[in-house]
Amino acid sequence: MQINPDAASARCSGPQERRLAEPIFIRPAYAEQFRCIGSECEDTCCQGWSVPIDRATYRKYKDLPSSLLRAQLDSCLVLSPAGKEGLNGETFAKIRMTGSNQCPLLTENRLCRIQLEQGEAFLSEACASYPRVVTSIGGVAEMALALSCPEAARQVLLAEDLLAAGHGGDEGETSTEEPWLFGLRDVVVGLIRNRDYPLWQRVFLMGILCRRLDAIGRGEFARSVPGFLAEFEATVASGSLHGALDALPADGSAQLDVVLRLAGMLLHRSNVRQRFVDCIGAFTAGIGNGPEATLESLAAHYQDAHDRSYEPFFERHPHMLENYLLNTVFRWRFPFGREGTRAGAQPQMTREFVRLAAQFALIKGLLIGVAGFHGEKFTAEHVVHTVQAATKHFDHHPEFLNLAHDLLAESGLDGARGLAVLLRNTKLTAAAPAARPASDPVYAPGPAGGRPERPVLPLTASMPPLPHPRPMRRRGVW
Ligand code: SF4
Repeated sequence: MQINPDAASARCSGPQERRLAEPIFIRPAYAEQFRCIGSECEDTCCQGWSVPIDRATYRKYKDLPSSLLRAQLDSCLVLSPAGKEGLNGETFAKIRMTGSNQCPLLTENRLCRIQLEQGEAFLSEACASYPRVVTSIGGVAEMALALSCPEAARQVLLAEDLLAAGHGGDEGETSTEEPWLFGLRDVVVGLIRNRDYPLWQRVFLMGILCRRLDAIGRGEFARSVPGFLAEFEATVASGSLHGALDALPADGSAQLDVVLRLAGMLLHRSNVRQRFVDCIGAFTAGIGNGPEATLESLAAHYQDAHDRSYEPFFERHPHMLENYLLNTVFRWRFPFGREGTRAGAQPQMTREFVRLAAQFALIKGLLIGVAGFHGEKFTAEHVVHTVQAATKHFDHHPEFLNLAHDLLAESGLDGARGLAVLLRNTKLTAAAPAARPASDPVYAPGPAGGRPERPVLPLTASMPPLPHPRPMRRRGVW
């Protein structure tokens, strides 16, 4: 399939620094290996959101001779307001979905009629490239996968070494005038893969890195970026931060509170897909939700799910969440962010970190509940399902990441101790609450014993009113 570089590429104009080292051209190869599995797919990318049509593709469709396909296209193509004004762009027009929120051009076999009849060259930019996402930093293209596609989620999460196929490139292609951008990217990638630290500490250290870089950018921290990066890497490698990191607080109850609030943001939308409903059903059952539940009882089950199911599984499969983070870094141009790579913009790396931490905390929290529900039968496929279903919702909730950032900031959880609470889980030795039998039904039986129609546990109605998280004071290693 054709890959279309992001037209909005621009150089980061953050703190001006000289070279840290030779530029590292990062272009993960894993995304190029993606192959759509078509009708074998358990979900479809042709349902649940509008399909943007770029201007050139719109013209091609309008130039097709009379046919059933042309008539179908005429009836479902809608010019976007920008398109009517004659502006160009990927969203020049869109395909109007059917009443069941599905692309009208999807055949009974769940194949694309445009591709079947006209070939891949007739697909719009968005359809041809999905789930590959190409972004640009400093004039260098990077490619990641949107984990809203189940096959992409499998490819990313299940890879023992996601970057084994290469994450470097031809340095001759590197045109950036600020090669420290890639030095920074290399530090972030190295940190995520550094198993000398528990994963939550690696994420936390990314926050320290971002906060310091923002301070350098504002002139509040007298270091050069290359000098600071070298110092940061040396400090991490020395292990001298272990003591301070180990002393950071954990609070499962406050963490669960935030996870519930973040999940609630996604559920309070009209277009909630069945796969996400399934995921939330397993999560809520896994944390013992029900009419009598309190935050304390939910937190006790959450802790138990973490200790008995989540942690043992991820100790055996540490690459899965590392890969999730690596792909997120490439996908969202972390730590520069979409806005931070626009020409003339000043990156807000701390803000980007809080957004990443919120995504990670939500995914981890959901996985703890889902692991608790499945117990010893929790598998990698449950991880893929949970990550894919949640990603599909927050990727298509235009305000989710901003709202998540605001939630953490308003709750005082965007500082060091608050983020530690959000990221850290500790294992309790105290007696765990009675585990719900794995055979308990989560769903009401469907008609004639068929597929269940709805969860026994209403998704949000039965959630008990939750207290606002306590503000956390900022101090310590931040
Ligand atoms: S979601 Fe992924 S695997 Fe499924 S049809 Fe779309 S691109 Fe193919």
